[in-house]
Amino acid sequence: MAAFVVKDLCQGCGVCAQACAYRAITIQAHLATVDPDKCRDCEECIFTCPNGAITLGTTA
Ligand code: SF4
Ligand code: SF4
Repeated sequence: MAAFVVKDLCQGCGVCAQACAYRAITIQAHLATVDPDKCRDCEECIFTCPNGAITLGTTA
């Protein structure tokens, strides 16, 4: 699994990218993007996102 960003909820604030200890999140075009190869499922970003835009799930 890997963290998954719900695009409609993400505001592109970048808080999650700073919180990720594995540098798995980047902001691209005002949208957080998780690199599933870097994500370690630590869930830090899920608790950090002020908009509840991140969840754990399988990537499509
Ligand atoms: S913290 Fe949430 S709203 Fe902000 S960029 Fe990350 S996913 Fe988007
Ligand atoms: S679950 Fe952890 S490792 Fe994965 S993107 Fe979120 S903060 Fe980074």
